[in-house]
Amino acid sequence: MNARADTAARTADGLDVEAVRARFPILRTEMQGRPLVYLDSAASTQKPDQVIARLTRFYEHDYANIHRGVYELSQRASALHDEARRKVQRFLGARDWREIVFVRNATEGINLVAWSFLRPRLEPGDEILVTEMEHHANIVPWQIVAGERGARVVPAPITDTGEIDLAAFAERITARTRMIAVVWVSNVLGTVNPVEEIVALARAKGVPVLIDAAQAVQHRPVDVAALGCDFLVFSGHKTYGPSGVGVLYGRAERLEAMPPWQGGGDMIERVSFEGTTFNEIPFRFEAGTPDIAGIVALGEALDYLGELGLERVERHEAALIGHAQRALAQIPGLRILGEPRERRGALAFTLEGAHPQDIGMLLDLEGIAVRTGHHCAMPLHARFGLSASARMSVGVYNTEAEIDALAAGLRRIAAMFQ
Ligand code: PMP
Repeated sequence: MNARADTAARTADGLDVEAVRARFPILRTEMQGRPLVYLDSAASTQKPDQVIARLTRFYEHDYANIHRGVYELSQRASALHDEARRKVQRFLGARDWREIVFVRNATEGINLVAWSFLRPRLEPGDEILVTEMEHHANIVPWQIVAGERGARVVPAPITDTGEIDLAAFAERITARTRMIAVVWVSNVLGTVNPVEEIVALARAKGVPVLIDAAQAVQHRPVDVAALGCDFLVFSGHKTYGPSGVGVLYGRAERLEAMPPWQGGGDMIERVSFEGTTFNEIPFRFEAGTPDIAGIVALGEALDYLGELGLERVERHEAALIGHAQRALAQIPGLRILGEPRERRGALAFTLEGAHPQDIGMLLDLEGIAVRTGHHCAMPLHARFGLSASARMSVGVYNTEAEIDALAAGLRRIAAMFQ
């Protein structure tokens, strides 16, 4: 039997993985004459048929520019766009639809906060607290505005297990800390950070906090109102939605106090050469025509996740990651980075004697897609004394048989290099 067919792949709580897989047309693709084993969902998830169909249907039946036309088609497109914002609001548990700002991706959301919220408040000597495990998207925007203002980005250390050292983190919140920005789930280690405790620490000291949820919202339920963060970002393309659309959540009182970031259409109230006044939130931050179809299809992707049930998704993926940990730990010379108490989504490793690039290329010959390199987390790799690693990551459509195929491939590679 082809192990990858895995027709019996059903979890105890009823997630029928084969039924899930059937909804993702790309998973029927062959690579090198073998079934594709896609283990790179942390980079981007594949798309279910209903998201693809929504995009097509929107362009075929509902498409026009939004907020501009009095004619029916434009109103229909506008209504669908508004509805998508409400879907995101419900998905995140935000109190108010005005707290949802559409951006291109998580990166743009963080840049928006860095430029519009933080930059005007920064003075020389101020600090922005992050951790050593951040994605570059949650380091570099802060560095750019800090560099301009004579402020600096302070990294909180992580332990050998790949977890935030909370005591050391708390010590680094000083009278100069103007912003705290922390990743919820590491895109390399898969560590689930205690964001509830981090938000509580930040709020106790009156420091605004941004949560990078790019690797979190597709793996577990989220409730921003309960969490109490000031800002949170995620990307549509990692959440079974299209690329080119992402979300910035910001507490209404924060967004209301922020100046515009980019100027143009839609973000204004009145324009004249004497002076321009700006629109209400969230439109003040949405200059120009957005990815209308992408936003509507993102709403569909969130519906899809809601239908699956994020608790079930989380249980399935936690089981997959547990299986991967056990299978990979058996391979001679393989080192898994970190050993966090809670790991979701991703797992990075090195193999003695083999360059991560070689591992990626050899696995590709077997139709297995994993990511190799620094995964946009150079400081994290430096912390582990590495410049690169290989990373496997899972989505809701992956099976234990696919993890077994990866482990078998890695065993063959280990034998070649040792
Ligand atoms: N943060 C984390 C934790 C990520 O994994 C990523 C994407 N790899 C990003 C931010 C940036 O996401 P995007 O490229 O979609 O803006």
